[in-house]
Formats: sequence, structure tokens, C-alpha cells
Amino acid sequence: MELFIKGIGVSPGVAIGPTLPFRVHTTDVPQYSIDDPVAELQRYDEAVERVRTSLTDVIHRTADEVGDTYAAIFRAHMEMLDDVTLRPDIERLLNENHLNVEYLVDAKIKEMTAALKSVDDASFRERISDFVDLGRRILHALSGEDEESLDHIETPSIVVAHELTPSETAKMDMGNTLALATDEGGPTSHMAILARAFEIPAVVGLRHVGARVGVGDQVIVDGTSGQVILRPNPATVEKYMREKERQDQERQALISAGTGKASKTLDGTEIETLANIELPIEVTDSLKDQCQGVGLYRTEYLYMNRTSLPTEDEQFEVYKRVVQSLAPLPITMRTLDIGGDKMVSYLSDHKESNPQLGWRSIRFCLDRPDIFKAQLRAMFRASAYGTAQIMFPMITGVDELREAMRVLQQVRDDLEARDVPFDRDVKVGSMIEVASAVVLAEDLARECDFFSIGTNDLIQYCLAIDRVNQRTAPLYKPHHPAVMRMLKQVIDVARKTNIPCSICGEMAGDPLFTETLIGMGFASLSMSSVSLPRIHAEIANTKLLAAKRFANKILKTGSGSEIKRLLTERAKSRDTLRLYRTGKQAPNGTTPT
Ligand code: PEP
Ligand code: MG
Repeated sequence: MELFIKGIGVSPGVAIGPTLPFRVHTTDVPQYSIDDPVAELQRYDEAVERVRTSLTDVIHRTADEVGDTYAAIFRAHMEMLDDVTLRPDIERLLNENHLNVEYLVDAKIKEMTAALKSVDDASFRERISDFVDLGRRILHALSGEDEESLDHIETPSIVVAHELTPSETAKMDMGNTLALATDEGGPTSHMAILARAFEIPAVVGLRHVGARVGVGDQVIVDGTSGQVILRPNPATVEKYMREKERQDQERQALISAGTGKASKTLDGTEIETLANIELPIEVTDSLKDQCQGVGLYRTEYLYMNRTSLPTEDEQFEVYKRVVQSLAPLPITMRTLDIGGDKMVSYLSDHKESNPQLGWRSIRFCLDRPDIFKAQLRAMFRASAYGTAQIMFPMITGVDELREAMRVLQQVRDDLEARDVPFDRDVKVGSMIEVASAVVLAEDLARECDFFSIGTNDLIQYCLAIDRVNQRTAPLYKPHHPAVMRMLKQVIDVARKTNIPCSICGEMAGDPLFTETLIGMGFASLSMSSVSLPRIHAEIANTKLLAAKRFANKILKTGSGSEIKRLLTERAKSRDTLRLYRTGKQAPNGTTPT
């Protein structure tokens, strides 16, 4: 029977196809009684055999691709797997407790890691993550799923998972991924951002979708409405085929109407529209046709899906390619913003209870000047090949900005002393994405060249809502009056102090907010490329004076639900898409008839 599940649409479009379940189970290990310890031990032996085969493969591949030093990590895992005490212990526990083997393996690994934690020797403690990793592999093998399935997907499929990390999403075989559907996640999780970058429909926050599908079940994912339908009836499939065609046509109409680079309001005010990119392959001719540059390059993706740091030269080559292929269009390169939901295991395997409030972003870089300086050197060297600027993420105050600037100055001085070419006019900016930075905006503006507001984090840090937590997703409100007033506060400071200020969080690509942001005074918006055509249409359907009046009304409203109602009603009366559907809207701000 068909089953409708409503989640949060985070990347638009409709896809229909067979499912590929991937790590659909939560990390909670089930516990239940069993009758036959011998059969259960056999399950364990079979799982260990599967782990052995996959580890052998990983050892060979790692040795070939990144060298023998790294393969040694997995050889150590193999030795632990063959540890003479492990199997007899599991056998004993099975006979004593009559419990399922996953539960006992998990308990055994926890016992071993607890013992290691208490040893007063750092080298022993470093083994903890190896045990955890090995335990995960055995549990995975017991679940019967294919561990490496997403690097290479055989046939076009819809990936259904409990949760996808940004690194898993970045290395996924996108050519054969029709759509994504996950239990966890929110609209500004990095998995969602990547889905938009690759223009793959995605729905998150589906709670238990993973547990309800089998391999190859047919599924419909509507990333625009957030609707997912498992095992749909033929009539439902037909309906969504038509919906897909309608959405594709609408998008095509928007693209062909709005591809000119200058985005103007109805009364001729220019609004700069920029793209956010995560990977160099996103810089294409079509991207360059649709925007005026890149307002946010999330460089941390270069650090993911590998076992060691990229060298300065390797980074330089990548940044140079991106800067060069965009030139003469400008690009804003953001320094390493890891942590939060973007974990890089070789940089930190320390589990934090509040990773979004933890050792991330600029904090990490200031603690690791070796890594920070190598990246800054690579960025400055790349600046010689186009128009680049640099910005720091997660700045919380003046001291932190000064400290980052001091390191940056050392890098500049060093390059200058060595006669290394770079652009002497590189502008350096601060992201405004923490509440303290909003309060201190005027002080920060005196110490840097530009601002870029990261609303994804700003909302999270202003409202105390984890941006990737599915449970609190309904409380993550871009339309909250405090968020609206913070945006206004920052743009007012930027205008007063005469520095450019853009928005590069997901709000910049949400058509619901375009008119209000323009009315507040924003003249630069940076967004996922998939949002550009739709936002161009909104800009072209905006009158500056009316936008200012409407923004003032929003800013005076103290209730979030009231703001939401005002925005929704306004979107209805503006009805931007109707103008396109009826062919009345000419591209880029020409007055419709
Ligand atoms: C933001 O926080 O709004 C932002 C643009 O950065 P990221 O999404 O990478 O944290
Ligand atoms: Mg951020």
C-alpha cells in the first residue's frame, strides 16, 4: 500500500525511482533475547568474515592511493579483529546472556574503550577511535548492508538514509543519484546544501523513512513540497509525473527569462546576485552566465574524504583553478570552516557534546596556525590569477578578528619577502553569523573590508536551535523577529561605515524573503546556484519603495507567526511566477505590461 510521509523539502524538484537504502538504521543498537546462541555466533562469524574482506580491500586501496603509512591504520584494525580473545569473549557472553550479538559486540567494544580511557598513556588512548571504528564495521556487517555503496551506485536510485554526513554526500555517485530522503537533517544542514549544489531533489526530517523501505521499492520524492510517497499507486505516479513536468517547465522558463547577469528591480536598482559553491566542479559556463561571481566558496570540502591534510601546493592548484575559471568574475574564499556537522576525522576525533558550540571554524584555525597559514598562503597565491577576496567564518568579536588578521598579515609579509606573486589588493572580510558579532558589528566594521552574513548559523546561534536537529527543525525560524532585526542592524552598520555587506546563508536564496531583504537595504545576495533563477524573478518583480515600506512593517512586528503570515500573504499577492507563466514578465527588471 502506498504510504505518504511528510518531511522538509530542502532541494527542489520531483524524482521517481527505486530506493537504495543506505545506513538506514539509527546508531541505537537493538537489544533482544535469542534462543540459539550457536546460530547467533555463526552470524557473528559471518559478519567478521565480511569485515575481513572489506578491510583487505580498504588496505590495498589506501596503500595504492595515499600510501602505506595510512594503510597501516587499517592493518591495525585487522589485527584487532583477529585478536584471540574477542571471539571467545563473544561466545561466552552469548551463552551467559542469550542476547542478540549486535548488543553484545557493542557492549564489548564499550568495555574495551572504557578500559583504554582509564590508562594513563596517550598512545593507548589513541587506540580508542580504532576500536570504535572496528565495532562500527562489525555492527554494519551484522546489519547486512553494503558499506561502500554510495561511492559507486549501479543504477539510477533514490538514496534513503537515516542520516548523511556532508562528506558522505560529497563523495556520492551523483550521476546515479535521483534524489535523497533522510530521517535526520534540517534545511541548512550541509547535506541539504550539497543536494542543492548538485540540483538533486531532497527531503529531510522524515523520522523513520529508513526503517520502512526495502531495496528497490519505488518511491516519489518531491523536494519542493517535502512530500515522500513510498510504493505509490499508478495514479499517484501519474500525478507526480505531471508535477515533475510542470516544475521542469517552470524552471526552464525562469532560466531563459533571467539569465542576464544584471539583476534589477522594477525601478532599476541593481542587486548583485552571487553563487555559493562547495566544490570546484560547480564552476561552469552556465553558472557564470547566471550570476555575478561567487560570494561564498566553502573550502572545507577540500579537506574531506581523505585521510590527511591537503598540502599548501595542492590547495593552491585547486584555488588557482577556481579563481582562474571564474575570472574576471570575483570570488570570496572562506577559510576552513570545519566542525559542527562538517567533521574531518583526521583533524579531530574528539567527540563533543555540543559540536555546534565547540572547537570549530576560526577557533580551530587559530589553535592550529600551521594549518591556517598553509591555507592562507595558498589563497593569496591563487589571488594572482583573478579577483579574489578572503573571509573568516564564525568571528565572535574584535580580539578574534584581530588575531586572524595578525596571522594573515604574517602570511602576506612572508610572501612579500619571498617575492611570491599575489594580489596586493585582496580584501579581507568577516562573516557575521554569531549574535555577538551583530552586537559588535560597528567595531568589527572598522577592522575589516566587508561583511557577509551567514544566516544559517546566525539563526542557530540567535535562537539556540541546532540547525541539523530534526526534532527542533520547526523552531528554526528565519522569520523570527529577532533575526529580522539583527539583519537590519548589520546592514545599517555596513551602510553607515561604508563597507559592502552581502548575505550568503540560505535565506538569500529563499524567495519568501527577497523583497524584505531588498527593502532593508541589502544589494548583494549569495545563494545555492539552483536558487538563482527564482531569485532573479523575485528581484525583477520588486519595487524599491514598496519593498522598503513592507520591510519596515516586518521590522515593527514582534511576533514570528505574524511575520510568517505577512510574508506568505505578500508572496501570494506578488505572485511572481504567474507573471512568468503568463509571459508578462520580461527579463531583468523591465516593467511587465
Ligand atoms: C551560514 O552559516 O549561513 C553560512 C553561509 O555558512 P555555513 O552554512 O557553511 O555554515
Ligand atoms: Mg556558517
